[in-house]
Amino acid sequence: MGRINIGKSNNKVKTVKADLRKSTGLQTVLLFCMLAIVTLSFPTHAEELVDATADYDSNNVFARILRGDLPADIVFESEYALAFHDINPQAKVHVLIIPKGQYTNITRFNADASDEEKLGFLDAISQTATIMKVDESGFKLVSNTGQHAGQTVPHFHFHLLGGEPVQSQ
Ligand code: AMP
Repeated sequence: MGRINIGKSNNKVKTVKADLRKSTGLQTVLLFCMLAIVTLSFPTHAEELVDATADYDSNNVFARILRGDLPADIVFESEYALAFHDINPQAKVHVLIIPKGQYTNITRFNADASDEEKLGFLDAISQTATIMKVDESGFKLVSNTGQHAGQTVPHFHFHLLGGEPVQSQ
């Protein structure tokens, strides 16, 4: 009897140990999932806002697209400008329009670009709106400049948003 009792209690200990191992494994998996969710919720670019007075960084993502080092879904291209779809669209139509010259933001573009570049850039905006078929329905242009606006890419760009009502964006 005594022996049998000891055996039973050993089995109980084994079961408890197995349960503990299972729950520790589950906790590890849960912890991993929580860490992954937290990491994905806070993309690193959100912390890397562009200073409005920063010098031009020729390794920024749009400079690399202009050099052909990175792919882009191009909508329009001219001597002065390039328009391509935003990788993370915030509206049905979300296209970025950038000058080909090296300007960190609209202030630098206005101060340093030639008249031809400025006119060429304005023309690119109009042509892009027509290509995207939002010239009649309407569209919004946004150019985030500096930290308070949340600029993340240090190459002057307009976001062209449309294809649906975008008043609140
Ligand atoms: P901003 O925060 O005003 O500087 O806007 C930068 C925009 O660039 C964001 O809307 C991003 O989704 C977009 N973006 C970043 N990398 C790429 C890329 N490789 N291709 C297209 N759009 C991009």
